[in-house]
Amino acid sequence: MSDLLRGKLVVGNWKMNGGGAANAVLLAGVVAGWQARADREVVVCVPFPYLAQARDALAATPIAWGAQDVSGHAAGAHTGQVSAGMLAEFGCRYVLVGHSERRQECGETDAVVAAKAVAARREGLIPVVCVGETLAERDAGQWQAVVTRQVDAVVQRLGADSARAVLAYEPVWAIGTGRTATPQQAQEVHAHLRALLCSAGGPEVPMLYGGSVKAANAGALFAQADVDGALVGGASLDAAEFLAIAGA
Ligand code: PEP
Repeated sequence: MSDLLRGKLVVGNWKMNGGGAANAVLLAGVVAGWQARADREVVVCVPFPYLAQARDALAATPIAWGAQDVSGHAAGAHTGQVSAGMLAEFGCRYVLVGHSERRQECGETDAVVAAKAVAARREGLIPVVCVGETLAERDAGQWQAVVTRQVDAVVQRLGADSARAVLAYEPVWAIGTGRTATPQQAQEVHAHLRALLCSAGGPEVPMLYGGSVKAANAGALFAQADVDGALVGGASLDAAEFLAIAGA
């Protein structure tokens, strides 16, 4: 993971988008347009039914792939859920955990998110743990308390294994809204989280920024000392735009 701290990690989140034919075009575009670089890791996180398509299209390429969610349970009576063991057996390397859309739409609590991160690590997956405050929380001056609580919940459960996780700061007000945090706002939060992990004797983990990242703003975000890459939603559905971000 320390390698990722020396370069940039760019993770695409397709969300609930795609279809066999469109995915084939998108994946082919990403493969054709990307050359391996030692200072970059590029990942796409796709809906469960398309994991096989991503695996086949990205085999023997420098592009990694992953899922958008995982169960906190290992196995059993959890209809509709997918375990970390299943994802690992399938060949997944990354999995998003605690995306704000899941926290909001599926009621995922900090404890549930932490359980998912633990389940992912138990099977050797790299959880990309998403945290971030809402606009109301930012306006109320609560961003520090919110992201601290969200990160603490996961780090306390993961312990030293946090070193094999990735953090993604995604202010909820910037996701899919076209309103990006300024590079300074992103840096301020990332520096806070870095200091938080350091003071707890925790490891240095890669910290991604997510929220309306585009080719036009990626360079300025990546220039910040504590921004180690990006989690990219909408723009990851356009191969040229996604790769322009990855190369920024
Ligand atoms: C996301 O889905 O994680 C995200 C950051 O979305 P967008 O880039 O569309 O804001």
